[in-house]
Amino acid sequence: MQKIRIGIAGYGNLGKSAELGIRQNEDMELVGIFTRRNPSSIKVATQGVKAYPIDEAKNMTDKIDVMILCGGSMSDLPKQGPEFANCFNTVDGFDTHAKIPEYYSEVDKAAKAGKHVSVISSGWDPGMFSMNRLMANVILPEGNDYTFWGKGVSQGHSDAIRRIEGVKNAKQYTVPIEDAIEKVRKGENPILTAREKHLRECYVVAEEGADKAKIEETIKNMPNYFAEYNTIVHFISEEELAKNHSGIPHGGFVIRSGKTGMNKEHSHLIEYSLKLDSNPDFTANVLLAYGRAAYRLNREGVSGAKTVFDIAPAYLSIKSAEELRKTLL
Ligand code: NDP
Repeated sequence: MQKIRIGIAGYGNLGKSAELGIRQNEDMELVGIFTRRNPSSIKVATQGVKAYPIDEAKNMTDKIDVMILCGGSMSDLPKQGPEFANCFNTVDGFDTHAKIPEYYSEVDKAAKAGKHVSVISSGWDPGMFSMNRLMANVILPEGNDYTFWGKGVSQGHSDAIRRIEGVKNAKQYTVPIEDAIEKVRKGENPILTAREKHLRECYVVAEEGADKAKIEETIKNMPNYFAEYNTIVHFISEEELAKNHSGIPHGGFVIRSGKTGMNKEHSHLIEYSLKLDSNPDFTANVLLAYGRAAYRLNREGVSGAKTVFDIAPAYLSIKSAEELRKTLL
């Protein structure tokens, strides 16, 4: 089998998970890791695979079929997405929802100019959640959508707490409110505020002598992050944080409830749920499947930016269309 030759750009959580994910896909092989840091400071887990300075990637276009872009959505991907799309087939998990149309258009221009396929905003949200929202909407045209996240770690909210004076370290969990989920599952179609859908639970390690009451107040009143939610703050030791809160779990639910029938007498509920021990491992595996699709589409002569909505599911699988019809249909 001719393997799909993969490069990984950015070696953070997602980059490391992508490397491990490749091991579970026998039609893929890892060619190199590309980083902005000094490559000699990077310990690559796969034997025989090297880390290269990111600028060297453009000299390796004949050695790599798909570049998995693992930079951050805030400031890395807006620059790296179009740059790489010009030289490689790419896939990323760009998750700044409000900026997806703008990002799509930049990447589309670059991918078309370079005659490559670039799948943007795959992962789980956006990604698998988006697919499920779309499917539920076409099946139940009259209904309501609900997305609940968690219980899981929000990196952005954890960072916001760490920036408060007197805070040494912190982890923030987004917790869906069971009562709200139950109302939705019962088909009550409730109108829910942010506060009614999620609560925020924070585990904070304070500097010695820090004013804990002030830290708690600052967290709870932080606009855009916590002020709109009920927030619980626990102060714990550095050891307890390392022991009980070192993982990166996440997940959530996409639910649509709708009605059909002459008098809307029939109720339907569609629910997709994820419980992820490791957010980056799951996200990386989605990116790899869409990387396979980008490679295949490009071999068929397709170019430009694509989202999960544009790609037929059979392109994602290692199995042939015939095998899929036999085993999974
Ligand atoms: P990280 O912060 O771990 O990594 C982002 C980048 O930071 C890396 O690519 C790396 O680039 C750089 N970096 C700099 N210093 C270090 C260091 N000391 N250790 C590790 N990395 C370093 O982010 P994640 O990998 O967790 O997430 C990447 C993006 O994935 C997120 O911004 C998020 O937007 C997206 N995401 C999308 C999801 C979805 O469902 N669509 C779900 C989860 C995440 P370099 O090697 O060049 O220095």
